[in-house]
Amino acid sequence: MLDVLGSLERTYTCGELREQQVGERVVLMGWVAKKRDFGVFTFIDLRDRDGITQIVVSEETDREAHAKAKLLRGEYVVAVIGEVFLRTEGTHNAKLATGDVEVHASEILILNDAKTLPFELEKAGSQNLASEDLRLKYRYLDLRRPKLQRNIMMRAKTVTRMREFMDAQNFIEIETPILLKSTPEGARDFVVPSRIHAGKFFALPQSPQILKQITMIACFDKYYQIARCFRDEDLRADRQPEFTQLDVEMSFANQEMVYRLLESLYGHIFKLIDVELPAKFPRMTYAEALRRYGSDKPDLRFEMELVDLSETLRETDFAPFASVLENKGEIKGIVVKGKADYSRKILDELQEFAKRYGAGALAWIKLGETETTSSLLKVLGEAKIAELAAAANAEKGDLVLIVAGKKSVVAAALGALRLEVAKREDLIPKDVFKPLLVTEFPMFEHDEESDTYAAAHHPFTSPMDEDLEMFRTAIEDESQHHLLGNVRAKAYDAVINGIEVAGGSIRIHQREVQALNFKALGLSQEKARERFGFFLEALEYGTPPHGGFAAGVERTLMALLQTDNIRDLIAFPKTASAQDLMMDSPGDVDVSQLKELGIKIAE
Ligand code: ASP
Repeated sequence: MLDVLGSLERTYTCGELREQQVGERVVLMGWVAKKRDFGVFTFIDLRDRDGITQIVVSEETDREAHAKAKLLRGEYVVAVIGEVFLRTEGTHNAKLATGDVEVHASEILILNDAKTLPFELEKAGSQNLASEDLRLKYRYLDLRRPKLQRNIMMRAKTVTRMREFMDAQNFIEIETPILLKSTPEGARDFVVPSRIHAGKFFALPQSPQILKQITMIACFDKYYQIARCFRDEDLRADRQPEFTQLDVEMSFANQEMVYRLLESLYGHIFKLIDVELPAKFPRMTYAEALRRYGSDKPDLRFEMELVDLSETLRETDFAPFASVLENKGEIKGIVVKGKADYSRKILDELQEFAKRYGAGALAWIKLGETETTSSLLKVLGEAKIAELAAAANAEKGDLVLIVAGKKSVVAAALGALRLEVAKREDLIPKDVFKPLLVTEFPMFEHDEESDTYAAAHHPFTSPMDEDLEMFRTAIEDESQHHLLGNVRAKAYDAVINGIEVAGGSIRIHQREVQALNFKALGLSQEKARERFGFFLEALEYGTPPHGGFAAGVERTLMALLQTDNIRDLIAFPKTASAQDLMMDSPGDVDVSQLKELGIKIAE
């Protein structure tokens, strides 16, 4: 029978019934999550997106329904007609919102059957009892798990909040094209071949950066968009090739205005989980964040700040340290409270971990109850070790971990170690939310190998007024080029619990400065005109000062839901090797399609 449903309509979801519906005749529809046969009684956990309701079918009173229930297997889709009863004393289930009641079914309709699932839903989430690849192949099944249901619904609520907020602040939602010309933000573009203009390509937006700036030139004043962005990068655990941002731009804005907007936006979003964020977020410059936490997105839920030990070792004749200091490097450490008893094995693991961030080695001092030991004891001697421990403010029972090297390496290695140790030792409190605005990012990143400078944020970010002279000098005077490394930008990030939830900048709004910046980035005038000519021209027609930010939807959810698995927050994510296992993409296309596009695949 095709039309199993007929005129039957459900009266409640599986999460709605409470004591006050007792006595009502109801119709529920959902999936069989669990079935238990107890002779004359069969119990069914009926599940939909809203929850689970216990169904009881009795052979004595409802012989036909009971016989139907016998046929049910996991994930069958059924309609249940029955009456709501209070559960008997002692069988209430506090874990279920509907746990005080049950439905005594008088009729069961099988709306559809289901094959045996390739993995058990109940166990799918725990300790990887089903491999993630298998779950991604059957994403529609994995998505039935309550945790993923909750995540995806939370995502919808978060995006709704974002829209509500932006709309209330008088921002206008403007859609920008997905088929675009490349607007580089430092990643590789995804390109789309044009059929009509064979041999030419569109690029998918890495973000709508240039277009949102152009909406400012077009006088829209306050723009936002829930924008899909595409970046063809080698994936990391917290990255996906496509992701979503709340993209924002406003005219006549200075940093303070953007900060206020970010603070109230996140204040509004976090009310979703009944968390009151501070009205004003603490602030830290990029330089300070790196110095104190070894990271531009410090997690402030715990301390363990980096301590500089360079001065204590200034006169050392231990060659590796001496050469680091001579080459303008540093020697820094972190103190792990009460962990002087770490085994050799753990220390070896931590050393391996630090090496992944470029550290040559990880030195340690253990301030044990009876003796102090250290990997540096032989080379530095007892007195120096004691001096170092004191400089680090370490006390009896503590462990000091030390890294020496280039400033960037020391920061990266100790910053990562700080987090790693905090995770191992469970030092990060749950349900605590620590927002932070990180300001004054550097304008450029230096690539030592090619001695070139790339935009640290993107090429449209404005230098700080204080550094404008230096910026000009560095570009105009070849011999001063290295000064680019010191120029700070009007760029900022919002960070919550170590997650960079949003980032943005005040933009360059003068053509001349924009052209200079392209030059700093090594783009010839010709190249700049070819790629950005339309934008340079647009800047000449009355461009207001402007700035904005983009807030990552997935990143924001990671902070809200306290998870670090980005795939759990996207309905149909890609794997770490950028594949969709359910649809099996990327896939082949017909030879005829390639022909139309004028494309030949090289062997
Ligand atoms: N377009 C930038 C990004 O995607 C955000 C911004 O500067 O507004 O990171």
